[in-house]
Amino acid sequence: MREQMLAYISIITMSGVLNFYLFLYVFNRRRLYKRISFYFLVYVAVIVIYCLGSAFGMLSANLQQLKFWTAIMYIGLPFTSPLGLLFIMKYLGIKVQKYQIASLLTIPVITTILVFTNDYHHLYYRVFTLHPTLGAPFFYQEIGFWYLLQGGLTFGCMLAGLLLLASRYKEVSIQYRFQITALIFGQFLPIVTAFVYLLGITPEGLDPVPMVLWISTLLYFWAISTSKLFSIMPVAKDVIFNSIDDAVMVLDGSFRLVEINQASKLHFPQLNHAMFGLAISDVWQDLFNATFDMEIGLLEINVSVDNDRIYQVRLSTLDPMRNMEGYLLIFTDITEVKKLQHLLERQAYYDELTHIYNRRAFLQQCEVDYTQSHMEETPFAVMIMDVDYFKKVNDVYGHLIGDRLLAHVVTICQNNLLKGELFARYGGEEFVFSIKNCHQLEAELLANRIRLAVEKTPLITSEGEITVTLSIGIAGSLKQGTDTISDLLNKADKALYQAKETGRNKVKVFTEDMVDLDSSDLENPSNPIMI
Ligand code: GH3
Ligand code: MG
Ligand code: MG
Repeated sequence: MREQMLAYISIITMSGVLNFYLFLYVFNRRRLYKRISFYFLVYVAVIVIYCLGSAFGMLSANLQQLKFWTAIMYIGLPFTSPLGLLFIMKYLGIKVQKYQIASLLTIPVITTILVFTNDYHHLYYRVFTLHPTLGAPFFYQEIGFWYLLQGGLTFGCMLAGLLLLASRYKEVSIQYRFQITALIFGQFLPIVTAFVYLLGITPEGLDPVPMVLWISTLLYFWAISTSKLFSIMPVAKDVIFNSIDDAVMVLDGSFRLVEINQASKLHFPQLNHAMFGLAISDVWQDLFNATFDMEIGLLEINVSVDNDRIYQVRLSTLDPMRNMEGYLLIFTDITEVKKLQHLLERQAYYDELTHIYNRRAFLQQCEVDYTQSHMEETPFAVMIMDVDYFKKVNDVYGHLIGDRLLAHVVTICQNNLLKGELFARYGGEEFVFSIKNCHQLEAELLANRIRLAVEKTPLITSEGEITVTLSIGIAGSLKQGTDTISDLLNKADKALYQAKETGRNKVKVFTEDMVDLDSSDLENPSNPIMI
Protein backbone atom coordinates (compact mmCIF):
# COMPACT_ATOMS: atom_id res chain seq x y z
CA MET A 1 0.00 0.00 0.00
CA ARG A 2 2.82 2.32 0.94
CA GLU A 3 4.64 1.66 -2.35
CA GLN A 4 1.46 2.22 -4.28
CA MET A 5 1.05 5.50 -2.43
CA LEU A 6 4.55 6.59 -3.23
CA ALA A 7 4.08 5.78 -6.90
CA TYR A 8 0.82 7.68 -6.86
CA ILE A 9 2.38 10.72 -5.19
CA SER A 10 5.32 10.75 -7.59
CA ILE A 11 3.10 10.51 -10.67
CA ILE A 12 0.88 13.33 -9.46
CA THR A 13 3.91 15.46 -8.51
CA MET A 14 5.43 14.74 -11.92
CA SER A 15 2.14 15.75 -13.55
CA GLY A 16 2.16 18.99 -11.54
CA VAL A 17 5.80 19.77 -12.34
CA LEU A 18 5.30 18.98 -16.02
CA ASN A 19 2.33 21.29 -16.16
CA PHE A 20 4.36 23.93 -14.38
CA TYR A 21 7.12 23.72 -16.99
CA LEU A 22 4.57 23.90 -19.73
CA PHE A 23 3.12 26.98 -18.09
CA LEU A 24 6.54 28.67 -18.06
CA TYR A 25 7.26 27.61 -21.64
CA VAL A 26 4.01 28.97 -23.04
CA PHE A 27 4.20 32.03 -20.81
CA ASN A 28 7.56 32.97 -22.30
CA ARG A 29 6.23 32.51 -25.79
CA ARG A 30 2.75 33.86 -25.19
CA ARG A 31 3.13 36.53 -27.89
CA LEU A 32 3.67 33.85 -30.50
CA TYR A 33 0.29 32.37 -29.88
CA LYS A 34 -2.83 34.31 -30.56
CA ARG A 35 -5.03 35.14 -27.58
CA ILE A 36 -5.49 31.42 -26.99
CA SER A 37 -2.39 31.44 -24.80
CA PHE A 38 -4.30 33.22 -22.02
CA TYR A 39 -6.88 30.44 -21.62
CA PHE A 40 -4.23 27.78 -21.93
CA LEU A 41 -2.05 29.41 -19.25
CA VAL A 42 -4.90 29.75 -16.75
CA TYR A 43 -5.97 26.21 -17.50
CA VAL A 44 -2.46 24.85 -16.88
CA ALA A 45 -2.06 26.99 -13.75
CA VAL A 46 -5.17 25.51 -12.11
CA ILE A 47 -4.00 22.02 -13.02
CA VAL A 48 -0.66 22.70 -11.32
CA ILE A 49 -2.50 23.74 -8.14
CA TYR A 50 -4.81 20.73 -8.39
CA CYS A 51 -1.92 18.27 -8.83
CA LEU A 52 0.35 19.73 -6.17
CA GLY A 53 -2.50 20.13 -3.69
CA SER A 54 -3.42 16.50 -4.28
CA ALA A 55 0.19 15.31 -3.95
CA PHE A 56 0.82 17.23 -0.70
CA GLY A 57 -2.51 16.00 0.60
CA MET A 58 -1.17 12.47 0.30
CA LEU A 59 1.64 13.38 2.64
CA SER A 60 -0.74 14.52 5.38
CA ALA A 61 -0.26 12.98 8.78
CA ASN A 62 -3.50 14.14 10.36
CA LEU A 63 -6.98 15.39 9.53
CA GLN A 64 -6.02 19.03 9.88
CA GLN A 65 -3.28 18.74 7.26
CA LEU A 66 -5.51 16.71 5.01
CA LYS A 67 -8.21 19.37 5.16
CA PHE A 68 -5.68 22.10 4.49
CA TRP A 69 -4.26 20.45 1.34
CA THR A 70 -7.70 19.48 0.14
CA ALA A 71 -8.70 23.14 0.37
CA ILE A 72 -5.54 24.13 -1.55
CA MET A 73 -6.32 21.49 -4.17
CA TYR A 74 -9.77 23.02 -4.53
CA ILE A 75 -8.27 26.35 -5.59
CA GLY A 76 -7.53 24.55 -8.86
CA LEU A 77 -9.70 21.48 -9.25
CA PRO A 78 -13.17 23.03 -9.77
CA PHE A 79 -11.83 25.33 -12.48
CA THR A 80 -10.05 22.73 -14.61
CA SER A 81 -12.91 21.48 -16.73
CA PRO A 82 -14.72 24.85 -17.28
CA LEU A 83 -11.39 26.39 -18.32
CA GLY A 84 -10.70 23.36 -20.53
CA LEU A 85 -14.04 24.00 -22.23
CA LEU A 86 -13.28 27.70 -22.71
CA PHE A 87 -9.90 26.77 -24.18
CA ILE A 88 -11.54 24.38 -26.64
CA MET A 89 -14.10 27.00 -27.64
CA LYS A 90 -11.28 29.45 -28.31
CA TYR A 91 -9.38 26.83 -30.25
CA LEU A 92 -12.36 26.18 -32.46
CA GLY A 93 -12.77 29.90 -33.08
CA ILE A 94 -16.04 30.15 -31.18
CA LYS A 95 -16.56 33.62 -29.81
CA VAL A 96 -16.51 33.36 -26.04
CA GLN A 97 -18.80 35.90 -24.45
CA LYS A 98 -18.10 37.49 -21.06
CA TYR A 99 -21.35 36.16 -19.61
CA GLN A 100 -20.38 32.63 -20.67
CA ILE A 101 -17.09 32.95 -18.80
CA ALA A 102 -18.87 34.36 -15.77
CA SER A 103 -21.54 31.66 -15.70
CA LEU A 104 -18.98 28.87 -16.14
CA LEU A 105 -16.76 30.15 -13.36
CA THR A 106 -19.40 31.09 -10.75
CA ILE A 107 -19.95 27.55 -9.45
CA PRO A 108 -16.18 26.80 -9.14
CA VAL A 109 -15.64 30.04 -7.19
CA ILE A 110 -18.42 29.09 -4.76
CA THR A 111 -17.04 25.54 -4.55
CA THR A 112 -13.62 26.81 -3.48
CA ILE A 113 -15.17 29.05 -0.84
CA LEU A 114 -17.39 26.22 0.41
CA VAL A 115 -14.48 23.79 0.69
CA PHE A 116 -12.47 26.33 2.70
CA THR A 117 -15.42 26.87 5.02
CA ASN A 118 -16.89 23.37 4.95
CA ASP A 119 -16.59 22.84 8.72
CA TYR A 120 -19.16 25.58 9.27
CA HIS A 121 -21.90 24.40 6.94
CA HIS A 122 -21.01 20.92 5.55
CA LEU A 123 -22.51 21.86 2.22
CA TYR A 124 -19.69 20.37 0.16
CA TYR A 125 -18.75 17.37 2.30
CA ARG A 126 -21.43 16.22 4.67
CA VAL A 127 -18.76 14.16 6.39
CA PHE A 128 -15.01 14.51 5.90
CA THR A 129 -12.82 12.53 8.35
CA LEU A 130 -9.80 10.32 8.34
CA HIS A 131 -10.43 6.86 6.95
CA PRO A 132 -11.54 4.74 9.92
CA THR A 133 -9.39 1.75 8.95
CA LEU A 134 -6.66 3.13 6.65
CA GLY A 135 -5.99 6.30 8.64
CA ALA A 136 -4.08 9.34 7.33
CA PRO A 137 -3.63 10.35 4.56
CA PHE A 138 -6.75 8.46 3.46
CA PHE A 139 -10.08 10.01 4.16
CA TYR A 140 -13.66 9.05 4.44
CA GLN A 141 -16.19 11.36 2.83
CA GLU A 142 -19.90 11.69 2.44
CA ILE A 143 -20.77 14.13 -0.27
CA GLY A 144 -22.95 17.19 0.25
CA PHE A 145 -25.37 18.99 -2.03
CA TRP A 146 -22.81 21.33 -3.61
CA TYR A 147 -20.45 18.43 -4.37
CA LEU A 148 -23.09 17.09 -6.73
CA LEU A 149 -23.49 20.46 -8.40
CA GLN A 150 -19.74 20.85 -8.92
CA GLY A 151 -19.49 17.26 -10.16
CA GLY A 152 -22.26 17.95 -12.63
CA LEU A 153 -20.50 21.04 -13.91
CA THR A 154 -17.18 19.19 -14.22
CA PHE A 155 -18.66 16.36 -16.26
CA GLY A 156 -20.91 18.72 -18.19
CA CYS A 157 -17.99 20.87 -19.30
CA MET A 158 -15.89 17.87 -20.26
CA LEU A 159 -18.74 16.41 -22.25
CA ALA A 160 -19.57 19.73 -23.90
CA GLY A 161 -15.91 20.12 -24.94
CA LEU A 162 -15.88 16.61 -26.29
CA LEU A 163 -19.09 17.11 -28.27
CA LEU A 164 -17.93 20.45 -29.64
CA LEU A 165 -14.72 18.90 -30.88
CA ALA A 166 -16.52 15.93 -32.37
CA SER A 167 -19.07 18.14 -34.12
CA ARG A 168 -16.35 20.29 -35.65
CA TYR A 169 -14.19 17.36 -36.69
CA LYS A 170 -15.56 17.24 -40.22
CA GLU A 171 -15.60 21.00 -40.71
CA VAL A 172 -11.99 21.74 -39.87
CA SER A 173 -9.53 21.45 -42.69
CA ILE A 174 -7.74 18.13 -43.11
CA GLN A 175 -4.53 19.70 -41.80
CA TYR A 176 -6.07 20.10 -38.35
CA ARG A 177 -7.72 16.70 -38.00
CA PHE A 178 -4.79 15.37 -35.96
CA GLN A 179 -4.97 18.31 -33.61
CA ILE A 180 -8.70 17.88 -33.13
CA THR A 181 -8.14 14.19 -32.46
CA ALA A 182 -5.52 15.10 -29.86
CA LEU A 183 -7.92 17.48 -28.17
CA ILE A 184 -10.70 14.89 -28.21
CA PHE A 185 -8.36 12.42 -26.57
CA GLY A 186 -7.24 15.08 -24.08
CA GLN A 187 -10.89 15.60 -23.08
CA PHE A 188 -11.78 11.94 -23.11
CA LEU A 189 -8.97 10.75 -20.87
CA PRO A 190 -9.95 12.57 -17.63
CA ILE A 191 -13.62 11.68 -18.20
CA VAL A 192 -12.82 7.98 -18.43
CA THR A 193 -10.44 8.20 -15.47
CA ALA A 194 -13.05 9.96 -13.36
CA PHE A 195 -15.59 7.27 -14.27
CA VAL A 196 -13.19 4.54 -13.32
CA TYR A 197 -12.70 6.34 -9.99
CA LEU A 198 -16.42 6.59 -9.44
CA LEU A 199 -16.89 2.92 -10.23
CA GLY A 200 -14.46 2.19 -7.42
CA ILE A 201 -11.98 0.27 -9.55
CA THR A 202 -9.02 2.40 -8.45
CA PRO A 203 -7.71 2.09 -4.87
CA GLU A 204 -10.00 3.64 -2.32
CA GLY A 205 -9.25 7.23 -1.37
CA LEU A 206 -7.02 7.84 -4.37
CA ASP A 207 -8.15 10.28 -7.04
CA PRO A 208 -6.47 9.12 -10.26
CA VAL A 209 -7.54 12.14 -12.38
CA PRO A 210 -4.48 14.33 -11.60
CA MET A 211 -2.31 11.41 -12.67
CA VAL A 212 -3.58 11.63 -16.25
CA LEU A 213 -3.97 15.39 -16.53
CA TRP A 214 -0.40 15.87 -17.72
CA ILE A 215 -1.21 13.73 -20.77
CA SER A 216 -4.18 15.97 -21.57
CA THR A 217 -2.11 19.11 -21.09
CA LEU A 218 0.63 17.80 -23.37
CA LEU A 219 -1.90 16.92 -26.03
CA TYR A 220 -3.42 20.39 -25.75
CA PHE A 221 -0.03 21.99 -25.97
CA TRP A 222 0.85 19.97 -29.05
CA ALA A 223 -2.44 20.99 -30.66
CA ILE A 224 -1.72 24.68 -30.13
CA SER A 225 1.91 24.65 -31.11
CA THR A 226 1.33 22.73 -34.31
CA SER A 227 -1.76 24.67 -35.34
CA LYS A 228 -0.43 27.48 -37.47
CA LEU A 229 -3.83 28.95 -36.72
CA PHE A 230 -2.47 30.37 -33.48
CA SER A 231 1.10 31.19 -34.35
CA ILE A 232 2.40 34.56 -35.43
CA MET A 233 2.35 33.93 -39.19
CA PRO A 234 -1.37 33.48 -39.57
CA VAL A 235 -1.81 36.59 -37.43
CA ALA A 236 0.45 38.50 -39.81
CA LYS A 237 -1.40 37.07 -42.79
CA ASP A 238 -4.67 37.99 -41.15
CA VAL A 239 -3.49 41.57 -40.71
CA ILE A 240 -2.39 41.77 -44.35
CA PHE A 241 -5.61 40.16 -45.52
CA ASN A 242 -7.63 42.75 -43.66
CA SER A 243 -5.50 45.79 -44.36
CA ILE A 244 -5.39 45.68 -48.14
CA ASP A 245 -7.69 48.02 -50.01
CA ASP A 246 -8.86 45.39 -52.48
CA ALA A 247 -11.95 43.44 -51.53
CA VAL A 248 -10.99 39.78 -51.25
CA MET A 249 -13.44 36.90 -51.11
CA VAL A 250 -12.32 33.35 -50.47
CA LEU A 251 -14.32 30.56 -52.10
CA ASP A 252 -14.10 26.86 -51.41
CA GLY A 253 -13.69 24.18 -54.07
CA SER A 254 -17.42 24.27 -54.78
CA PHE A 255 -17.42 28.06 -55.28
CA ARG A 256 -19.06 28.77 -51.95
CA LEU A 257 -18.21 31.92 -50.03
CA VAL A 258 -16.09 31.07 -46.98
CA GLU A 259 -14.26 34.25 -46.02
CA ILE A 260 -14.14 37.97 -46.76
CA ASN A 261 -11.75 40.67 -45.68
CA GLN A 262 -12.52 43.99 -44.02
CA ALA A 263 -12.29 45.89 -47.31
CA SER A 264 -15.04 43.69 -48.78
CA LYS A 265 -17.46 44.99 -46.18
CA LEU A 266 -16.53 48.58 -47.02
CA HIS A 267 -16.83 48.10 -50.78
CA PHE A 268 -19.98 45.99 -50.62
CA PRO A 269 -21.93 46.85 -47.47
CA GLN A 270 -24.65 44.33 -48.36
CA LEU A 271 -22.16 41.52 -47.73
CA ASN A 272 -22.71 39.84 -44.38
CA HIS A 273 -21.69 36.74 -42.53
CA ALA A 274 -25.06 35.14 -43.19
CA MET A 275 -23.92 34.80 -46.80
CA PHE A 276 -21.08 32.47 -45.79
CA GLY A 277 -21.66 29.06 -47.26
CA LEU A 278 -23.78 30.41 -50.12
CA ALA A 279 -22.79 29.73 -53.71
CA ILE A 280 -20.92 32.71 -55.16
CA SER A 281 -23.47 32.85 -57.98
CA ASP A 282 -26.17 33.66 -55.40
CA VAL A 283 -23.98 36.17 -53.59
CA TRP A 284 -23.09 37.76 -56.93
CA GLN A 285 -26.75 38.04 -57.86
CA ASP A 286 -27.49 39.68 -54.50
CA LEU A 287 -24.61 42.10 -54.73
CA PHE A 288 -24.51 43.04 -58.38
CA ASN A 289 -27.86 41.89 -59.70
CA ALA A 290 -26.01 40.00 -62.40
CA THR A 291 -25.11 36.44 -63.30
CA PHE A 292 -21.75 35.11 -62.20
CA ASP A 293 -20.10 33.47 -65.18
CA MET A 294 -16.43 34.07 -64.55
CA GLU A 295 -13.61 31.84 -65.61
CA ILE A 296 -10.19 31.93 -64.01
CA GLY A 297 -8.75 35.27 -65.08
CA LEU A 298 -9.72 38.92 -65.27
CA LEU A 299 -13.02 40.66 -65.70
CA GLU A 300 -14.12 44.26 -65.54
CA ILE A 301 -17.49 44.99 -63.99
CA ASN A 302 -19.48 48.12 -63.41
CA VAL A 303 -21.14 48.05 -60.06
CA SER A 304 -23.69 50.44 -58.72
CA VAL A 305 -23.05 50.68 -55.02
CA ASP A 306 -24.05 54.12 -53.69
CA ASN A 307 -22.34 55.83 -56.59
CA ASP A 308 -21.27 53.91 -59.65
CA ARG A 309 -17.97 52.17 -59.20
CA ILE A 310 -15.94 50.13 -61.62
CA TYR A 311 -14.07 47.06 -60.40
CA GLN A 312 -11.53 44.87 -61.99
CA VAL A 313 -12.20 41.37 -60.71
CA ARG A 314 -9.61 38.62 -60.68
CA LEU A 315 -10.51 35.00 -60.07
CA SER A 316 -7.60 32.71 -59.29
CA THR A 317 -7.10 29.32 -57.69
CA LEU A 318 -6.13 29.59 -54.05
CA ASP A 319 -2.90 27.70 -54.29
CA PRO A 320 -2.13 26.16 -57.66
CA MET A 321 1.23 24.82 -56.40
CA ARG A 322 -0.32 22.75 -53.63
CA ASN A 323 -3.40 21.97 -55.63
CA MET A 324 -5.45 23.31 -52.77
CA GLU A 325 -9.12 23.40 -53.60
CA GLY A 326 -10.41 26.92 -53.35
CA TYR A 327 -10.52 30.22 -55.16
CA LEU A 328 -9.77 33.85 -54.56
CA LEU A 329 -11.90 36.66 -55.92
CA ILE A 330 -10.08 39.96 -55.78
CA PHE A 331 -11.92 43.19 -56.53
CA THR A 332 -9.77 46.20 -57.35
CA ASP A 333 -11.56 49.53 -57.48
CA ILE A 334 -10.42 51.11 -60.75
CA THR A 335 -13.03 53.87 -60.83
CA GLU A 336 -10.47 56.66 -60.51
CA VAL A 337 -8.15 55.09 -63.09
CA LYS A 338 -11.08 54.76 -65.47
CA LYS A 339 -12.12 58.36 -64.89
CA LEU A 340 -8.62 59.53 -65.67
CA GLN A 341 -8.48 57.28 -68.71
CA HIS A 342 -11.80 58.69 -69.85
CA LEU A 343 -10.57 62.24 -69.34
CA LEU A 344 -7.36 61.58 -71.26
CA GLU A 345 -9.36 59.98 -74.05
CA ARG A 346 -11.61 62.98 -74.19
CA GLN A 347 -8.63 65.30 -74.27
CA ALA A 348 -7.04 63.24 -77.01
CA TYR A 349 -10.11 62.94 -79.20
CA TYR A 350 -12.41 65.83 -78.44
CA ASP A 351 -12.18 69.53 -79.04
CA GLU A 352 -12.22 71.41 -75.77
CA LEU A 353 -14.20 74.42 -77.02
CA THR A 354 -16.95 72.78 -79.05
CA HIS A 355 -16.92 69.26 -77.52
CA ILE A 356 -17.03 67.63 -80.92
CA TYR A 357 -14.33 65.34 -82.37
CA ASN A 358 -10.97 66.88 -83.12
CA ARG A 359 -8.98 66.38 -86.30
CA ARG A 360 -7.16 63.27 -84.99
CA ALA A 361 -10.37 61.50 -83.98
CA PHE A 362 -11.98 62.47 -87.26
CA LEU A 363 -9.18 61.09 -89.39
CA GLN A 364 -9.13 57.82 -87.45
CA GLN A 365 -12.87 57.25 -87.58
CA CYS A 366 -13.20 58.51 -91.15
CA GLU A 367 -10.62 55.99 -92.29
CA VAL A 368 -12.66 53.19 -90.72
CA ASP A 369 -15.93 54.44 -92.26
CA TYR A 370 -14.36 54.94 -95.65
CA THR A 371 -12.90 51.42 -95.73
CA GLN A 372 -16.26 49.98 -94.75
CA SER A 373 -17.97 52.04 -97.39
CA HIS A 374 -15.50 50.72 -99.98
CA MET A 375 -16.21 47.15 -98.98
CA GLU A 376 -19.92 47.72 -99.11
CA GLU A 377 -19.45 49.58 -102.41
CA THR A 378 -21.49 52.54 -101.26
CA PRO A 379 -20.80 56.22 -102.08
CA PHE A 380 -18.97 58.39 -99.56
CA ALA A 381 -18.73 62.17 -99.20
CA VAL A 382 -16.63 64.63 -97.24
CA MET A 383 -17.31 68.33 -96.64
CA ILE A 384 -14.99 71.04 -95.37
CA MET A 385 -16.68 74.10 -93.92
CA ASP A 386 -15.06 77.43 -93.13
CA VAL A 387 -16.62 80.45 -91.41
CA ASP A 388 -16.52 83.48 -93.65
CA TYR A 389 -14.62 86.53 -92.43
CA PHE A 390 -14.22 85.06 -89.02
CA LYS A 391 -11.13 87.08 -88.33
CA LYS A 392 -13.35 90.14 -88.35
CA VAL A 393 -15.50 88.72 -85.55
CA ASN A 394 -12.43 88.39 -83.41
CA ASP A 395 -11.23 91.84 -84.37
CA VAL A 396 -14.56 93.54 -83.65
CA TYR A 397 -15.91 91.56 -80.69
CA GLY A 398 -12.88 89.90 -79.23
CA HIS A 399 -11.84 86.27 -78.89
CA LEU A 400 -14.40 85.33 -76.27
CA ILE A 401 -17.31 86.20 -78.49
CA GLY A 402 -15.40 84.51 -81.32
CA ASP A 403 -15.32 81.33 -79.24
CA ARG A 404 -19.02 81.57 -78.48
CA LEU A 405 -19.74 82.01 -82.15
CA LEU A 406 -17.82 78.86 -83.00
CA ALA A 407 -19.82 76.89 -80.43
CA HIS A 408 -23.00 78.47 -81.80
CA VAL A 409 -22.18 77.36 -85.36
CA VAL A 410 -21.43 73.84 -84.10
CA THR A 411 -24.81 73.63 -82.33
CA ILE A 412 -26.65 74.67 -85.49
CA CYS A 413 -24.72 72.08 -87.50
CA GLN A 414 -25.54 69.35 -84.98
CA ASN A 415 -29.24 70.28 -85.14
CA ASN A 416 -29.19 69.80 -88.90
CA LEU A 417 -27.27 66.56 -89.02
CA LEU A 418 -28.97 63.24 -89.39
CA LYS A 419 -27.58 60.15 -87.70
CA GLY A 420 -24.28 58.71 -88.80
CA GLU A 421 -22.43 61.75 -90.11
CA LEU A 422 -19.01 62.31 -88.65
CA PHE A 423 -18.54 65.93 -87.63
CA ALA A 424 -15.32 67.42 -86.31
CA ARG A 425 -13.39 70.60 -85.80
CA TYR A 426 -10.65 70.48 -88.35
CA GLY A 427 -8.76 73.45 -86.88
CA GLY A 428 -9.45 77.14 -86.19
CA GLU A 429 -12.82 78.03 -87.69
CA GLU A 430 -12.77 75.13 -90.11
CA PHE A 431 -14.94 72.07 -89.67
CA VAL A 432 -15.17 68.80 -91.49
CA PHE A 433 -17.89 66.22 -92.14
CA SER A 434 -17.83 62.75 -93.59
CA ILE A 435 -21.02 61.00 -94.64
CA LYS A 436 -21.44 57.31 -95.37
CA ASN A 437 -23.67 56.04 -98.12
CA CYS A 438 -24.10 59.56 -99.47
CA HIS A 439 -23.88 60.92 -103.02
CA GLN A 440 -22.37 64.31 -103.71
CA LEU A 441 -25.81 65.73 -104.46
CA GLU A 442 -27.23 64.62 -101.13
CA ALA A 443 -24.20 66.11 -99.43
CA GLU A 444 -24.79 69.35 -101.28
CA LEU A 445 -28.38 69.46 -99.98
CA LEU A 446 -27.20 68.89 -96.43
CA ALA A 447 -24.47 71.54 -96.79
CA ASN A 448 -26.93 74.09 -98.06
CA ARG A 449 -29.34 73.28 -95.25
CA ILE A 450 -26.59 73.94 -92.73
CA ARG A 451 -25.39 77.06 -94.58
CA LEU A 452 -28.89 78.56 -94.63
CA ALA A 453 -29.56 77.65 -91.00
CA VAL A 454 -26.38 79.40 -89.87
CA GLU A 455 -27.09 82.41 -92.01
CA LYS A 456 -30.57 82.69 -90.54
CA THR A 457 -29.61 82.14 -86.91
CA PRO A 458 -27.56 84.98 -85.52
CA LEU A 459 -25.71 84.70 -82.23
CA ILE A 460 -27.36 86.96 -79.70
CA THR A 461 -24.86 88.81 -77.55
CA SER A 462 -25.00 91.83 -75.25
CA GLU A 463 -23.36 93.74 -78.04
CA GLY A 464 -26.02 92.85 -80.57
CA GLU A 465 -26.80 90.00 -82.91
CA ILE A 466 -23.93 88.59 -84.93
CA THR A 467 -24.63 86.80 -88.18
CA VAL A 468 -22.00 84.83 -90.01
CA THR A 469 -22.02 82.82 -93.21
CA LEU A 470 -20.32 79.62 -94.22
CA SER A 471 -18.46 78.41 -97.27
CA ILE A 472 -18.49 74.67 -97.84
CA GLY A 473 -16.53 72.47 -100.22
CA ILE A 474 -17.67 68.93 -101.02
CA ALA A 475 -15.91 65.94 -102.54
CA GLY A 476 -17.47 62.57 -103.09
CA SER A 477 -16.25 59.11 -103.91
CA LEU A 478 -18.26 56.76 -106.06
CA LYS A 479 -18.26 53.07 -105.35
CA GLN A 480 -15.42 52.34 -107.75
CA GLY A 481 -13.42 55.35 -106.54
CA THR A 482 -9.70 54.98 -105.94
CA ASP A 483 -9.24 58.14 -103.87
CA THR A 484 -7.79 57.97 -100.40
CA ILE A 485 -9.28 60.00 -97.56
CA SER A 486 -6.48 62.47 -98.00
CA ASP A 487 -7.35 62.81 -101.74
CA LEU A 488 -10.98 63.41 -100.88
CA LEU A 489 -10.14 66.05 -98.29
CA ASN A 490 -7.85 67.80 -100.77
CA LYS A 491 -10.62 67.87 -103.32
CA ALA A 492 -13.09 69.21 -100.79
CA ASP A 493 -10.57 71.90 -99.89
CA LYS A 494 -10.29 72.93 -103.52
CA ALA A 495 -14.06 73.15 -103.76
CA LEU A 496 -14.07 75.28 -100.60
CA TYR A 497 -11.53 77.57 -102.25
CA GLN A 498 -13.88 77.92 -105.16
CA ALA A 499 -16.73 78.78 -102.83
CA LYS A 500 -14.62 81.50 -101.23
CA GLU A 501 -13.37 82.77 -104.58
CA THR A 502 -16.82 83.07 -106.02
CA GLY A 503 -18.23 85.22 -103.23
CA ARG A 504 -18.47 83.08 -100.03
CA ASN A 505 -21.70 81.94 -98.36
CA LYS A 506 -21.71 79.18 -100.94
CA VAL A 507 -21.54 75.41 -101.30
CA LYS A 508 -19.31 74.03 -104.04
CA VAL A 509 -18.90 70.42 -105.16
CA PHE A 510 -15.48 69.42 -106.46
CA THR A 511 -15.07 69.06 -110.20
CA GLU A 512 -11.90 68.06 -112.04
CA ASP A 513 -11.60 71.48 -113.68
CA MET A 514 -11.07 73.27 -110.37
CA VAL A 515 -7.74 75.11 -110.19
CA ASP A 516 -4.89 73.51 -108.35
CA LEU A 517 -5.12 75.73 -105.30
CA ASP A 518 -6.61 75.29 -101.88
CA SER A 519 -8.38 77.59 -99.45
CA SER A 520 -5.25 78.33 -97.45
CA ASP A 521 -3.96 80.27 -100.45
CA LEU A 522 -6.82 82.69 -100.19
CA GLU A 523 -6.16 86.35 -99.63
CA ASN A 524 -8.19 87.55 -96.71
CA PRO A 525 -10.55 90.04 -98.30
CA SER A 526 -11.98 92.84 -96.25
CA ASN A 527 -15.60 92.07 -96.87
CA PRO A 528 -17.58 93.09 -93.79
CA ILE A 529 -19.46 90.72 -91.54
CA MET A 530 -23.17 91.26 -91.21
CA ILE A 531 -24.36 92.72 -87.97
P1 GH3 B 1 -12.22 83.76 -94.82
O1 GH3 B 1 -12.16 82.39 -94.21
O2 GH3 B 1 -13.61 84.13 -95.19
O3 GH3 B 1 -11.30 83.91 -95.98
O4 GH3 B 1 -11.84 84.80 -93.75
P2 GH3 B 1 -11.34 84.53 -92.29
O5 GH3 B 1 -11.31 85.82 -91.59
O6 GH3 B 1 -12.24 83.51 -91.66
O7 GH3 B 1 -9.97 83.97 -92.56
P3 GH3 B 1 -8.81 83.26 -91.73
O8 GH3 B 1 -8.90 81.78 -91.92
O9 GH3 B 1 -7.56 83.92 -92.17
O10 GH3 B 1 -9.08 83.61 -90.23
C1 GH3 B 1 -9.44 82.66 -89.31
C2 GH3 B 1 -9.34 83.28 -87.95
O11 GH3 B 1 -9.93 82.42 -86.96
C3 GH3 B 1 -7.92 83.49 -87.50
C4 GH3 B 1 -7.92 83.17 -86.04
O12 GH3 B 1 -7.59 84.26 -85.24
C5 GH3 B 1 -9.33 82.76 -85.75
N1 GH3 B 1 -9.41 81.62 -84.90
C6 GH3 B 1 -8.88 80.40 -85.09
N2 GH3 B 1 -9.18 79.59 -84.05
C7 GH3 B 1 -9.92 80.32 -83.18
C8 GH3 B 1 -10.53 80.05 -81.91
O13 GH3 B 1 -10.46 78.96 -81.36
N3 GH3 B 1 -11.21 81.07 -81.31
C9 GH3 B 1 -11.31 82.29 -81.86
N4 GH3 B 1 -11.99 83.25 -81.22
N5 GH3 B 1 -10.74 82.57 -83.03
C10 GH3 B 1 -10.05 81.61 -83.70
MG1 MG C 1 -10.04 79.55 -92.33
MG1 MG D 1 -12.68 81.78 -92.52
